[in-house]
Amino acid sequence: METGTAPSFEALFGHPPSVVAHAPGRVNLIGEHTDYNGGFVLPMAIPQRTHVELRPRKDRTVRAFSATVGSQGGVQEFVLGQQAPGRGWLDYVQGVTLVLQREGFSFDGFDVRISSEVPVGSGLSSSAALDVCLLRALREAFSLQLEDVRLALLGQKVENDFVGAPVGVMDPMACHLADGGSALFLDTRSMSFERVSLPAGVEPIVINSGVAHNHAAGDYRTRRAECERAAALLGVPQLRDLTEADLPRVAALPDPLGRRARHVVSEDARVLATVTALRTGDLAALGPLLYASHVSQRDDYEVSVPQIDLLVELARGEPDVLGARLTGGGFGGSIVALARTGTGAAVAQRIARAYSARSGHSATVLVP
Ligand code: ADP
Ligand code: MG
Repeated sequence: METGTAPSFEALFGHPPSVVAHAPGRVNLIGEHTDYNGGFVLPMAIPQRTHVELRPRKDRTVRAFSATVGSQGGVQEFVLGQQAPGRGWLDYVQGVTLVLQREGFSFDGFDVRISSEVPVGSGLSSSAALDVCLLRALREAFSLQLEDVRLALLGQKVENDFVGAPVGVMDPMACHLADGGSALFLDTRSMSFERVSLPAGVEPIVINSGVAHNHAAGDYRTRRAECERAAALLGVPQLRDLTEADLPRVAALPDPLGRRARHVVSEDARVLATVTALRTGDLAALGPLLYASHVSQRDDYEVSVPQIDLLVELARGEPDVLGARLTGGGFGGSIVALARTGTGAAVAQRIARAYSARSGHSATVLVP
């Protein structure tokens, strides 16, 4: 989303860019808060993308502009080797350069202009789209030897080590490797992945609630710590090491650890069941899995908010919707639903209108 009429690269820097890169936002079909527990996720790319225009400089200065972040506008500068966090969106640019330097890559300063259609803080991973897009542009501009999984892992490092957002590896993997026609079935422990097509009879819907979250904030960090504590009490390295057969033991943990762990263990099982349903075209199985995931996020993991619950309830009232759930880290953000093919556009608009009338927030349909 560009703010007003943002200046072009040439108007900002006095010369044209030499490299242009893009990366999409992502929607997670199912498998929430499983990635930092070593589990399974199933994201897809969305059509909205982040764009980076870049031109190397002959010195160590980085000059950066984002057409997306109006209030923090203007060209920002830093010098390679002197990156310091605490500068808002510029931390993503600083973080990418610092992480690359720490990995031994050498490159010069550059001018960079960022723009995006991915809504910020809406659970659709504008941050990883930015990390991945910057890494792709720098890889091309400076011929860096950076293969795909490593690029995604560096994107995660930017957020973990520099920005201070304790996110898992799903987002950069999805923004880098997922596409819009299939879901990326990723095992975040082994990092093996496979693309699974959606059956012809279903299409995704994505609706942004207009309630923004902040992942660097405490709640996400608290959930991570609760999962680590639960795993330690159960004597396993990660919650990924448990299955539904362990749920009685999990339930015996003190509250809320038992509920947190039950979400993660049952969510991993739901990802596997969803992959089977997609592969076999078992449309009837898909809906209950998505709804069960939502209830688990709402009641056990406690990452939903009333506005998101309202969107899911409105989806449930639509006969052509098979299932719906909160997508992304939560505390606001977006829902994903699966609808019968050909119905998605009209259904999504109806849900968005009813939501806006009842919640006082403005919903935006991003897919279809
Ligand atoms: P999400 O990834 O779910 O959208 P995050 O809180 O993880 O939310 O990341 C949002 C932050 O990422 C923004 O506050 C901003 O600092 C940065 N960001 C994302 N997209 C852009 C962009 N196009 N330009 C500048 N900064 C961006
Ligand atoms: Mg993010």
